[in-house]
Amino acid sequence: MFANTQITKTISLENYGIKDATVHYQLSPKKLHRLTIEKRQGVEVLSGALAVNTGKFTGRSPKDRFIVKDEVTRDKVWWGDINIPFDPEKFDRLYDKVTEYLSGKEVYARDAYACADPKYRLNIRVVNEYPWSNMFANNMFLRPDKDELENFKEDWLIVNAPGFMADPEVDGTRQENFAILNFSKKIALIGGTGYTGEIKKGIFSALNFILPVYKETLPMHCSANVGEDGETAIFFGLSGTGKTTLSADPSRKLIGDDEHGWTKENTIFNFEGGCYAKVINLTKENEPDIFHAIKPGAILENVILNDEGDVQFENTTITPNTRVSYPIDHIKNIQKPSMGKNPKNIFFLTADAFGVLPPISKLTPGQAAYHFISGYTAKVAGTEAGINEPQPSFSACFGAPFMPLHPTEYAEMLSAKMKAANVNVWLVNTGWTGGAYGTGNRMKLKYTRAMITAALDGKLDDVDFTTHELFGLSMPESCEGVPSEVLNPRDTWKDKEAYDNKAKELAESFKRNFEKFEEYANDEIMTGGPKA
Ligand code: ATP
Ligand code: MN
Repeated sequence: MFANTQITKTISLENYGIKDATVHYQLSPKKLHRLTIEKRQGVEVLSGALAVNTGKFTGRSPKDRFIVKDEVTRDKVWWGDINIPFDPEKFDRLYDKVTEYLSGKEVYARDAYACADPKYRLNIRVVNEYPWSNMFANNMFLRPDKDELENFKEDWLIVNAPGFMADPEVDGTRQENFAILNFSKKIALIGGTGYTGEIKKGIFSALNFILPVYKETLPMHCSANVGEDGETAIFFGLSGTGKTTLSADPSRKLIGDDEHGWTKENTIFNFEGGCYAKVINLTKENEPDIFHAIKPGAILENVILNDEGDVQFENTTITPNTRVSYPIDHIKNIQKPSMGKNPKNIFFLTADAFGVLPPISKLTPGQAAYHFISGYTAKVAGTEAGINEPQPSFSACFGAPFMPLHPTEYAEMLSAKMKAANVNVWLVNTGWTGGAYGTGNRMKLKYTRAMITAALDGKLDDVDFTTHELFGLSMPESCEGVPSEVLNPRDTWKDKEAYDNKAKELAESFKRNFEKFEEYANDEIMTGGPKA
């Protein structure tokens, strides 16, 4: 059901340069849902959730993500094609154009915050052109109560104008869309794209700078949950590897599905107040928690409905990246507040489309550092334009596009924390088995869940392990709920020679990718990689 959040306060946006606008402040999700439908920007699906199309962009646009280069960021940010510099004066001019564009319009403003641990709280004011974008902000950020709203003072401002198109020649952008972070002014300026993920990942990127630089906290692109014994587990992984899916585990309390901080006080906290799940091929049987979260208050993106208004989860006509956002309390079993203690188990999730990596293996500290810095997964045909065969993809810290600092800064913090907390680190391949993409199949979700449960319950502590010849990974020989022949990837391939060749190919990709990090890596880390 919709929560009742009647607000009487009003705010003006004149100070931000948005003049004569009709400001809808802190509307309830119910009202935003209704307005979206009234304005023909969305429809209600059978389960009562809202469905919208985000427009031309149905995913983030990493090449159009900029950081303003000035005295705050100049010497700290790792500049390059991930963190692309933007001129401060150009930012000011573009900001003026966007706020002028929003002037005189109906706009949707809301106050929210990030970081569940009050010590690290970041207050955010969000201004959106569209009601559903504002509802997304309600779903994904933490929701202040009435008292907190009275004297709300924002730390950061998000200005989100999907309908505003930049003029690259004049504005200094690459094309019409942009997401620009300004750490001096504390503004995230987003235009030309309606993809809501830009809003949440904008603040994530900001926190990935603020927390390590000023607060001695390690930001992580991971999900987290806690068992009945109070033990925390975290799951790192790139997009599509299973963070959201595997952290929604009915037997464990969810802390969060995507963005967390690890503090010097030995705690973990969620940055967000909601989840943003992929819904491609979603079924009630495989993913009941996510399925049941799609109710009034949730927003589906870019899905296709049948005549009855039911969602066709297998339909990827608009995009394979169909999504749903919902407040975290749409999941039944959650940890309140969204915090936990030092993790006892860390999982690195990878979707290896080559079918080479074992479905679960235990990592030494050196291997953990090596695989964290590598951040391997595979891109599969159909998810990105121009990709027809699976391709290895390496993204440092399992989230390079969101990391303003050099990857080794995060890696060093993580290594120190893992050692101090004496955690188990597991590499889990949620990708292919029995052959590469095209020949083999995706690992059964049921098996992956069983392997994770076994690891969490300590059931892999006493089993025998085999070492993977090339990657040096320790693979359990047996695991409750999983056929033993699945555990060693080579055994699942009919053609062993083909396996060995594929494994060599993948090892080469790892090595090539790691070359740029060799100067930062000590011997322990270097021995964590595949053998020559
Ligand atoms: P993002 O960072 O983009 O949010 P994510 O890491 O949260 O990505 P999920 O949303 O969990 O990724 O997506 C994993 C997808 O893979 C889901 O659609 C899930 O159903 C599917 N899948 C298939 N087999 C498995 C498996 N063995 N383990 C995990 N996920 C699987
Ligand atoms: Mn996710």
